[in-house]
Amino acid sequence: MTSARVEENDVNGSHLKTEYIRNVTYMLRIGCTSVSFAATVQAMSLAASATSSTNRQFTLAARPVGMPKESDFNLVESPAPKPGEGEVLLRTMYLSVDPYMRGRISGVKSYAAPVEIGQVMVGGTVGKVVESNHADYHPGDIVEGYWGWQEYAVSNGQGLRKLDPTLAPVSTALGVLGMPGMTAYFGFLDICQPKEGETVLVSGAAGAVGSLVGQIAKIKGCRVVGIAGADDKVEHITADLGFDAAFNYKTVDDYSAKYKELCPNGIDCYFDNVGGKITNDVFPLLNTFARISVCGQISQYNALKPEPGPPILTYLLVKQATARGFIVTQFMPRMREGIMQLAGWLKQGRIKYRETIVDGFENTPKAFIGVLSGENTGKMLVKAAG
Ligand code: NDP
Repeated sequence: MTSARVEENDVNGSHLKTEYIRNVTYMLRIGCTSVSFAATVQAMSLAASATSSTNRQFTLAARPVGMPKESDFNLVESPAPKPGEGEVLLRTMYLSVDPYMRGRISGVKSYAAPVEIGQVMVGGTVGKVVESNHADYHPGDIVEGYWGWQEYAVSNGQGLRKLDPTLAPVSTALGVLGMPGMTAYFGFLDICQPKEGETVLVSGAAGAVGSLVGQIAKIKGCRVVGIAGADDKVEHITADLGFDAAFNYKTVDDYSAKYKELCPNGIDCYFDNVGGKITNDVFPLLNTFARISVCGQISQYNALKPEPGPPILTYLLVKQATARGFIVTQFMPRMREGIMQLAGWLKQGRIKYRETIVDGFENTPKAFIGVLSGENTGKMLVKAAG
């Protein structure tokens, strides 16, 4: 893929100011006018008149068949928009590329409306206010929002969250202290209800969500086993993040035997990011009253013919196990709780995070294809501008 660097952004107390928690509280109080990740893009209105800057945007050119290709996106240029009364002009600094975007470009109606052909790609963003006609925002302010794959956007302020760059790297608003962080925190703790001494299995364990789930499970006193797709990822989650055991699913044929070896007391909680055979083979190892958090099924997102459904129901029945799917937006009313707890653990050095950063707005489609292909460790981001 294109040049990407893995940034060792293992934030611990020494990187964060001591007043981090207090200031995060402040940041939340002043910044969270709305925390709906999906709805905020609707607040963006592109103004008619132009400035001298050029706005590059990626629009959807075609609905992908199988794995997306760069040609599924068009790079279009137009004059940067000008903010109207009560609006701000935003310059994109970081773009988030996420697996859920594969569903948004498939055209299949899901929990969110699909991106239409010719429409700017949706997505989480962090950017700088470069012009403001809005009382609450000033040039230089850094905000998180959802204005998608474009270098400039105009917003009326709705859905923007003001960030304090002196507290934590602003990119964390798209990762550990943003949507993936909330997914891990609530999707694991609320649905799996882990207890000390239990065995927790995590698939997609070296990614943005999975790497946090494993660390939260360790904080809760569980034995944690991870599944990832590269030896260096296995090394990272065990050596750096404290997972008790892990394996590379690309070099193991018999997942059942591996689960038996690494989970000798069976599996109490399974946090599923991937689905497919990796998940299918988990069921015989479930303990009675096991809980399964169905977070993602990435192994199926590009499949031309979905794998036949795993015969899980018998296992759920006889083990009296609970499996529950979720969309992270259901937890948004509790986002403050999630950010406060994760920020606290970051400050204490009890959780760490990594980012794989691709340089250059023009490389956004490559980065998106990269996150679907396992080229990231931790959160995959695009750095559009400094
Ligand atoms: P990640 O950072 O985990 O990146 C995706 C990873 O998936 C890749 O790096 C790759 O890692 C792995 N992967 C790709 N293809 C396969 C495959 N065929 N089999 C197994 N693993 C594969 O992404 P996120 O942390 O952002 O998301 C993780 C999951 O959580 C996704 O399924 C996503 O859709 C879901 N999600 C759900 C949310 C919800 O509200 N329910 C919210 C956010 C995310 P590897 O090298 O290990 O293969």
